[in-house]
Formats: sequence, structure tokens, C-alpha cells
Amino acid sequence: MAEVGYRLNFARSWRPRAFKEVVGQTTPVQLLANSIARDIYFPVYLLSGMRGSGKTTVGRLFAAALNCERLVDFCAGSCQWNDLPCGACRSCQLMQRGEHPDFIEVDAASYTGVENVRQIIDEAQFLPVVGRKKVYLVDEAHMLSKSAFNAFLKMLEEPPASVIFLLATTEAHKIIDTVRSRSFQLFFDPLPFDTLADYLIQVAQKEGISCEREAVEVIAQQSEGSVRDALTAFEQAGVAAEQCITIDLVRGLFGLVSFAAVFDLYHALFVRDIPRVFDVVSEFAGQRRSLAHGWSVLVEVATGALWFEKSLLMPNLRAYEKDFQRLIAAAPQGFFARALDLFFKYELLLQKTQNQKQLFERMIIACLEFVGGSGEVAVQFNPVEQVKDSKGAGAPVSSVPLVQAVMEQPLVETSGNVNTEAEVWKKFLAQVRPLCKDPILLSVLASGCFQGVDSKVVRVMFPKSFAFYQELLINARLLWQPVLEECFGGGATLLPFFSTEGEDAGRVRPVAGHDKGPTAELVKKNSAKVSMPVQKRKQMRGGTAVDISDVNAWPTANMLVGLFPGSVKLYEE
Ligand SMILES: [Zn+2]
Repeated sequence: MAEVGYRLNFARSWRPRAFKEVVGQTTPVQLLANSIARDIYFPVYLLSGMRGSGKTTVGRLFAAALNCERLVDFCAGSCQWNDLPCGACRSCQLMQRGEHPDFIEVDAASYTGVENVRQIIDEAQFLPVVGRKKVYLVDEAHMLSKSAFNAFLKMLEEPPASVIFLLATTEAHKIIDTVRSRSFQLFFDPLPFDTLADYLIQVAQKEGISCEREAVEVIAQQSEGSVRDALTAFEQAGVAAEQCITIDLVRGLFGLVSFAAVFDLYHALFVRDIPRVFDVVSEFAGQRRSLAHGWSVLVEVATGALWFEKSLLMPNLRAYEKDFQRLIAAAPQGFFARALDLFFKYELLLQKTQNQKQLFERMIIACLEFVGGSGEVAVQFNPVEQVKDSKGAGAPVSSVPLVQAVMEQPLVETSGNVNTEAEVWKKFLAQVRPLCKDPILLSVLASGCFQGVDSKVVRVMFPKSFAFYQELLINARLLWQPVLEECFGGGATLLPFFSTEGEDAGRVRPVAGHDKGPTAELVKKNSAKVSMPVQKRKQMRGGTAVDISDVNAWPTANMLVGLFPGSVKLYEE
């Protein structure tokens, strides 16, 4: 029987064997080489950086170089520092086979206790067997317990001259200060995107793998600076590819929405091919990644299109020049600028909603308004108008605009019993009213314009001016949710929309006839509270711009900017 071939995976076979083969990380490698060249050593080196950045690899090379028999040549100047370790001498051979008696690698994740550290310290007292130095490489060093660190610290006060500790960690801040301050700290930065892509191209050439530069760039981007992750992904792509590693193949491997699908969606929107739009959106929703990822690819292509209109092709989209030419030729005037503005209005809502798919569909349908076309557009894609018109006509199904909308717009699943469902919404409001102690919440609920129910999702449109109260509405969920389920059945959820239109009272109006009377007055009073005297507003010109990019620190400000585009300024009282 033929022997089954076994090949090391790329992450191992491409592991550097000498300092010169290390990708990036010039500074830590140079510092360690200088340490050897000047024969000055620290008892502890702290190697910190993200996973896959080469900490343990460089640590092993350093250990091998320290004990390499050609170190004398290096010191005599007849050998370059980056040729170390030689890889050929007895010590280097032992290192490569993982049998060097003076190199001990410890995984702190499995040896966290003080006993393990004491044992290591006791053994460290013995002199090296074959080399000059005994080297301990402690991986995931931050996992050591506090008592283990303290035992370690005692040894550091009087370190044995022939022992060197290399502590590798992804979380240097978890290493206690007293140990950290006695260490020589080396930082391993994530590899720059270009360096990583160039390196993969080099690997491809040596391994005889054919690949597109753009495909390799996607791998480099997705690996976020980790050489190991990049090599592993590249190897997988090589196995999956029939001949050449293409960008579409790689995007598929990472579960990314393909650019082809996004181009397809935009073209379908331009020609109002509604069934196709629906199909592509469903494909997005069926992806491994969340729809927020679909959103980001839509935005990426729209931004790329805006630049392309200004005769610039973004570097990461180089593979799609022809697609962009076709896209721009087919796009209505100003489409991408308007679409982008719309997408960003939905960004935060998409992250918050529990009904991402419906909201995403709503966003895409809203895009159709930028395509222009027939005069029926406004009727078809303004569900608020539909309900209002149908009410006016008495019998909804026979009303002409609604029938047209149903026939020409299969996306909106109007179940035909709009009136009945609207009645249920009224019933819901009537039942919530006595439970609700907060007049503002009551006003917000009453201002909602019922849109319909699809698969237990109750869609309600609120006026744009009430978007401010979205959190109030969501926070009061415990109060209204049971009533909602009682009225619309178990598992019913409320999907609030906030009108993206201007504050046109004719378009968004309450179903239940609360546009007049005490509720409306409450809203007015509330608005009065929010508005401020002219004098004060004049004083507030100027102010200091505030960076609110940290969403956790500025949740409300971020939500507001998501709804009302603009900037945030800080004013002194
Ligand atoms: Zn050697």
C-alpha cells in the first residue's frame, strides 16, 4: 500500500527559521538581535501583541540564536545578525526538532498555579545542558495567578545569570506592574495590510499557486494583521480554488456578501425589477453574516460609485472597474448620494431592531423613491397614503390605488384585511391607555400610524419628530408587549418606523383620531418644553465640536445623529 503523504500546513511550513525570514516586526526583532550583539541580556522579556503577530515565533528564534554555535561568527562580524540562528548546528537542529534540553516552553493557560511556577524556578537553578542560556518561553503569560506572579517576582530579585524568561501575552496590562517594570518590553504590532498582502503574493509564487491580487487583499483585510490567520485562510482558498484564487471565491469563504450580488441589486432597483430586488435581499438575509454586513457592502459599493463618478476607482475595488462603468451608466442622476444618506439614517436602527430583515427591506424599498419612473411611485411606496385613501373610500379592497399597489408591488404583503387589523391596533391603544401612566409615552403611541402585520410583526409608522422618543417606547416594552400579544397573538412584535419624510401632517397621521384633543395638546406642551428662547439659541452659536465616535460613551448622542444627521457640539452654560 502506498504511503499516505503528509504535508505541513502553511502556518507551520512558512514559519520563519531565521530572523531575516520574519515578516514585519522590524523593531522587536532588531532589539533582540542588538541584545545578542552587545551580549547584554535582561532576565525577563515581555513580548506583547495580538494573536498571530509572531510573538512565540520570534521568541523561539531568539532562544535558538542565543544557543546557536555560529553565534561566535556573528560576534566576530563574519555573519549577519539576521542570518541567525544558523539552523544547521547541533543546537539549532535540537531546537527545530523541539528536543533542546535548555529550551522549555510553558503554556500558562494550563499551568496557572504557584506550584508550577515554583517548580520552574527550582529547575532554573541548574545550569544549561548544551547551550549558553536556559530559556523559558511562557505563552499566554497573563493567565498566571497572582501568587504565581509573586513567586516569580522573588526570583527576579536575584535572577540566575544563565536563565532568560520570555513572557508572551496578548494582554500585557494583566501582567502585574512589578513584573512588567522589571521586564524588557517588546511590542508586536498587527501587520500592515500591504505588507501582509505582499507576503501572501510571495508565498503564492513559491508554492506555485495562481491568485488574483484583489483576492489576496481581501484575505489580508480579513486577517486583521495576523500572519497565521492570513496563511491559514490563503491555504484554504488554495484548496477550494479549481485553478486561480479569485476575489469572489475568497469573499464566499469568509461569508462576505459578494459585490456581484450588490451590483445586481442596484441594477434591479434602477429598472424597478421588484421580484429580483426581493430575491437578492432574501439572499443577503440568508448569509452567515448579519444584515449589518450586507448594509456595509451596500455602503461600500455606493461610496465606490460616488468616487467613480468623480473619476476615481478606490484601490480595494480595482477588480470591478467594468462593473462600476455599467453601474454609473445605468444609475439615475444623484441616486448614490441620496441612497447613502438614507442608508446612514438606518445604520443605528438596524443594529438595534430585533427585526433586522423587515427593516432592511424597508430601507431597500425606500431606495425605489430615488429611481423616479412612473407617477404611481408615490402611491405604491407610501403605505401611509394607502391606508388613508382606503379609509376615505370606505372599502379598502375596491379602492383603485390600493389594488394597483398590490398588483404592481408584490413586496408589500397587504393581507387584505387592513381595516380589521387597524381595528385591532385601535383596540391595542384602548387597552394600553389605562395602564400607561406616562402622558408622553401615550402621545407617542397614539401618534403611530398603523401600517400592517406581516408574520406577527406589527409595523407602525411614527412621525419623524417623535424619533427622539424611540428609546422611551422601547424601554416601556414590558408595559405594552403583553397587550400587543393579547391583541395580535402570542409572539407578536412591534416594529416602529420613523417617517423619513418632512413633517407633513397629511402623510403621517394617527389612525385612531387622536390628532386633535387632549393628546395633541400634551404633545404641544412637550414641544414647548424642548424649544428654547431665541436669546439662548443665539448664545449657543459656536461651541466646541465633540468626538462621539465611541458609541458606548455617547449612546444617546449617537442615536440622535443617526436620526438627524449633523454634528455634536459642547456648550458652556
Ligand atoms: Zn545554529
